[in-house]
Amino acid sequence: MHDLTIIGGGVIGMMIAREMALDGASVELLERAEPGQEASWAGGGILSPLHPWRYPEPLLKLAARSQQLFKATAEQIHQRTGIDPEWRQCGLLITDTNEKQQAIEWGEQWQTSLRSLHGNQLRDCEPALTPSITDALYLPDIAQVRNPRLLAGLRAELKLLKVTIHSQTEVNRFISHGSTVTELETSSGKHPVNNVVLCAGAWGGELLATTGVNLPLEPVRGQMMVIKTPANTINRIVLSGSRYLIPRSDGRVLVGSTIERTGFEKQTTAVAREDLYASAIQMAPCLAEWPIEHHWAGLRPGSPSGIPYIGVHPTLDNLHAALGHFRNGLMLAPATAELMKSLLTRQTASVNINDYNHLNFSRGHNPTLAGS
Ligand SMILES: Cc1cc2nc3c(=O)[nH]c(=O)nc-3n(C[C@H](O)[C@H](O)[C@H](O)COP(=O)(O)OP(=O)(O)OC[C@H]3O[C@@H](n4cnc5c(N)ncnc54)[C@H](O)[C@@H]3O)c2cc1C
Repeated sequence: MHDLTIIGGGVIGMMIAREMALDGASVELLERAEPGQEASWAGGGILSPLHPWRYPEPLLKLAARSQQLFKATAEQIHQRTGIDPEWRQCGLLITDTNEKQQAIEWGEQWQTSLRSLHGNQLRDCEPALTPSITDALYLPDIAQVRNPRLLAGLRAELKLLKVTIHSQTEVNRFISHGSTVTELETSSGKHPVNNVVLCAGAWGGELLATTGVNLPLEPVRGQMMVIKTPANTINRIVLSGSRYLIPRSDGRVLVGSTIERTGFEKQTTAVAREDLYASAIQMAPCLAEWPIEHHWAGLRPGSPSGIPYIGVHPTLDNLHAALGHFRNGLMLAPATAELMKSLLTRQTASVNINDYNHLNFSRGHNPTLAGS
């Protein structure tokens, strides 16, 4: 039996598996399809909350820690696997300058570099922007990651770290004796366990509810598209209202994203396709010259304030969860993994664990992992 069983092979599950395997634990991961195909694949890979000053402090603290960890994590994955997650500090331009004062205060509090750009300064920074945008806030330190490559790299690294991946294995129920989960009921039969971390993304709330704990989690559909443009068409991430452009290093430009509460429905829609495309051309008219390469949708694990639930189950001592990362799970993954390791190994965490233990989700006690 493994020291640790992780349910769900998104960025959260794989990053926790990596962290714990690097710490010496024997780890397995149960995934109902193939790892890295759901929200974590569908996301944009911006490594910052959009309009960060609108977010609560616990989210910003976890974000700040992740931002410290991301570059080194991406470099290690690249070195060990040969797959480059393309971490790139491309900067973020925010065109909603009516929130300038809040932005400046946030920048000072979090020591994040931020400046106002006008007219020619803005044109020099991002020549493709429409001339009707004359002012923007520029955050030069904001980075992005190419998430499908991050996921491919993580999967390859898990293999090197001897993490056992059980694909096509859906977990349906927890079987417990007293306060301990002893087995998982899966689509391939009963599966004995020592310690469990539930990382099933938008589907995690339903699985957790089978244990009597109801977290206010809901799937939130996001649609995106990619326009196949030549290199350097756009150079910065550009955010305008609820729409954004993300330039990849090969030139492709991602356009995101919708926020739709349509349950577990993951279809794309013609309305969103038109809307995203129109927004993209409004921000950068030159994009109209290039074709839409792909349009897709994913289900974000939505939580009320966007602060994830990271903790131990209130009555089952060896069941943990990392759920509800909503719009920021790619960015938050390294700090979530670090925090989960602190919980599993009873080490001091770099953030206050109580900030993420909503609904008394954590009782602060859990068996220490063998091999950690
Ligand atoms: C359009 C869009 C844009 C986004 N942009 C960004 C961005 O720019 N930056 C950012 O940081 N975040 C972004 N996000 C959010 C981010 O993608 C998510 O917060 C993150 O991917 C959540 O990761 P996860 O591992 O919890 O979930 P998922 O990636 O959904 O993984 C959950 C996994 O669990 C598996 N699973 C579910 N139920 C079971 C079960 N019963 N048994 C076994 N396996 C199960 C699923 O198959 C899946 O593989 C975006 C999301 C979307 C949709």
